[in-house]
Amino acid sequence: MADDCGDQSATADAVDTMLLIVNRRLARGLNTVVDATSVLAKDRALLVDVAQKHNMPVIAVLVSTPLPVCIKRQQTRPANRRVPEDTITAQHRAMVHSYSNLRSEGFNDVVFSDSLYRLEPFLEQISNLRIRELGQGGDDGLGDLMLPRRFFGPELLSLWRWKDGSALAGDDRVAEIRIGQQYLTLDLRTDVDGEGSIGFEVLLPCPFDDECDGEAWAPAYTVTDLWGALTGDRDQDPDIVCTVHGSFDDVDQEADDHAGQALHETSGSV
Ligand SMILES: [Zn+2]
Repeated sequence: MADDCGDQSATADAVDTMLLIVNRRLARGLNTVVDATSVLAKDRALLVDVAQKHNMPVIAVLVSTPLPVCIKRQQTRPANRRVPEDTITAQHRAMVHSYSNLRSEGFNDVVFSDSLYRLEPFLEQISNLRIRELGQGGDDGLGDLMLPRRFFGPELLSLWRWKDGSALAGDDRVAEIRIGQQYLTLDLRTDVDGEGSIGFEVLLPCPFDDECDGEAWAPAYTVTDLWGALTGDRDQDPDIVCTVHGSFDDVDQEADDHAGQALHETSGSV
């Protein structure tokens, strides 16, 4: 509702929206989980009412985390999401107090979260996802998108295009990610350490000469490296290697009068 998810003034709007969604789902007879504190009877009554309106059973799940643990866990939350200790204590007390009333409020069943089989559905879900990605379930699978997925995560894959036929990186594969006019060019090095390890590089402007005809590549290990490449944050990255000018080390040597040699070596390997 609000841009700041710790903004408590948005709570009423959030509850309205939640009830709207619950209403529409229950009208379709769908199982629906509401994850909210709901330690007060008046908050629970809203949920019981909407379930009963659609003739759906309603189950209360109690999370019986001890109070000291609830308080301790607040310490690792960002400041805007931290709940004051006296609020937690009051909520915890209300939760314990509510336990014996849940049946009479209209809940068809009352269970404790640690009695639920949760590991199994969790594993089932990620197992199904993994089978689809690997192409073992009758789908095509990700195929040669598995590698970019492993480095950069799943969100980027819809933008990823292998540019086979591009000679920009010699025999190594080239790829592009693009939205409209903004794009990045990557290559896949098949031997980054002399031991056969693979890794991606991203194409950057040559830091040594604005008019350079070579390609300046820097390693891209994560999606954050790609972001930095697009914003210009990596334009002076010490790991850049230009196919004409070599690396920052080579250019330093050049200043020490070992010039042409480094230049010759790197351009010879293009
Ligand atoms: Zn260059």
